[in-house]
Amino acid sequence: MKIEVSKRLLLLMGFMMMFSGTLLSMEQGSQGNSITYRPSSAYDPRFFVESNLEFTLLHELSHAVIELNDIPVLGGNERAADQIAIMLMIMTSHGFDETLFDKMLSISGEWMIEWREDIKRHPLAFWDVHPLAIQRFYDVTCLVYGAAPDKLEKIRKETWLPIERAWECDKEYTKNRQALLWLADNYSYVSFDRNWQLFQKEQHPPADEVVKIQFIPTSNVAYEPIIDWLMSSQRLKYLIDRTNQILKLPEPVTIYFETQCSGPDAWWNPAINGIVICYSLIEQFQNNAQKLQPLVKRLSNESELPFLFLFPEKYSGLLAQDRETIRREFIQLMDDILVGD
Ligand SMILES: [Zn+2]
Repeated sequence: MKIEVSKRLLLLMGFMMMFSGTLLSMEQGSQGNSITYRPSSAYDPRFFVESNLEFTLLHELSHAVIELNDIPVLGGNERAADQIAIMLMIMTSHGFDETLFDKMLSISGEWMIEWREDIKRHPLAFWDVHPLAIQRFYDVTCLVYGAAPDKLEKIRKETWLPIERAWECDKEYTKNRQALLWLADNYSYVSFDRNWQLFQKEQHPPADEVVKIQFIPTSNVAYEPIIDWLMSSQRLKYLIDRTNQILKLPEPVTIYFETQCSGPDAWWNPAINGIVICYSLIEQFQNNAQKLQPLVKRLSNESELPFLFLFPEKYSGLLAQDRETIRREFIQLMDDILVGD
């Protein structure tokens, strides 16, 4: 017996409504497990810029790892590089502390700000090899949420992740974590133990610095403070040192901070084994840092969001409870209906 899609949807909705009453009351009882997050550092301009620079560097380094090791990729290089960068940030942090959330809000906030600019100024580049900025916003949010959905329900609502995507974020996170373990086992000096804690499995050769930074001089005086700031950034220095301790690369890679750019951008250039980061991209991060807090405030108050879909509150309880039980019961229910007479 066949059943068409619209009927399946109706059945699903009915099923969800059946459960929502009990689950909502259970959710209230489990509020002690949820994490309440109040952005503290994400609104700090320096923290915002450094978080986005960290993500950008890890994204471009992921391109280098994939290309130099000739690693097969399904689903596209750009999404793979985004996923590796975000997973590295999640899994090398020390638990779900505010620093991690602040970093993720800075990064997803940058995507949201860029998206709002994109829809104002340009025809949207649907043809582009990168996902749209708004898709990258949801991808970041989904992976962080998927790492601990039962604890992060409150944050899911605050970052506007619709339930249709949120439903499977735990699976997305688990798959990404498996891929990261495989990458670590094959192309790094570290791995993850049974509790997913990072440990050093081999000693990194002391003098072997595979990733180096070069600052290309510029006559544009506007960029001088940016160069001074980059050169003195302890977080950038830590990131590069850590990358050298972790990453095995068959050839050295140089990160060039430079001016020869047609716009604020960063890219991996395989012809020179180089990662190019434009000073103008850092300048864009600095400008967007000022926009994050007003944006969060505005989106929190807007009743109608043309490009964000808010799911009715009453279904959100589904996410905070035992999803495997719900899934199994749903599959059983569907089987009974489909197999029945
Ligand atoms: Zn890329």
